[in-house]
Amino acid sequence: MDAEASPSRSISGQLRGALRACRGAWRHAARLALDVALPTLCVACREPVAGDGVCAACWAKLSFIAPPYCPRLGIPFVYDPGPDLLSMEAIANPPAYARARAAVRYDDVARTLVHGLKYQDRTDLAPAMGSWMARAGRELLAEADALVPVPLHWRRGWSRRYNQSGALARVIERQSGVRLASEVLRRVRPTQQQIGLSRPQRASNVQGAFKVANHRQSEIQGRRVILVDDVLTSGATADACARALLRAKAASVDVLVFARVVDSHKAPI
Ligand SMILES: [Zn+2]
Repeated sequence: MDAEASPSRSISGQLRGALRACRGAWRHAARLALDVALPTLCVACREPVAGDGVCAACWAKLSFIAPPYCPRLGIPFVYDPGPDLLSMEAIANPPAYARARAAVRYDDVARTLVHGLKYQDRTDLAPAMGSWMARAGRELLAEADALVPVPLHWRRGWSRRYNQSGALARVIERQSGVRLASEVLRRVRPTQQQIGLSRPQRASNVQGAFKVANHRQSEIQGRRVILVDDVLTSGATADACARALLRAKAASVDVLVFARVVDSHKAPI
């Protein structure tokens, strides 16, 4: 029996092996076909695009911020007022942070990207958005020691799964080599959503809401820090975070965001 069973087992074994090889080859072919059938899609409108990032139409609709702009707030100037001239807003309402830079104005396409990253788990948006931020913040990154993302409150982090500012900061770390200091800054009390609040309400909503964790102070003390966030609206959150970092003896705090509201009356929040 044994003598007869062995060859039959080996034949069925060979057959199984051949079948497995076939299935493997088929899977490989199917994967190749998928790669051919699925071109890269525009991160904003999902139309096919050559290469990564956004399509030409969406690219044209994004308003990248370029000089001339206010050296403190990064708000674009309509005309060049000359070197070191500050915007009226920077003079009237100076923030706790030293300088802010943004990749784009917060408008329709920018909002699509921000909302995709924030609410729809579109983590595939982070590499493009982060690399535009790294370019906009080149001057700040050249002098910085650490990147600190604006934290979510833990309850919101739980429901939303991940911190979009952290995702952007990780891309900037890879591009610039500036170290990411995650979870150094904590939200010590819950805050309301800033949407729909007036400027003074926004400021009081986030006042004292952030703190550098005691055992992480050494990572901030004496360091030139860049605070990373997705959007800068009134600047109240960035200001509250900057104050917390300065209380922990940061040497300086700059702010780098993906999009900033330039004209708050026209911003589609
Ligand atoms: Zn597009």
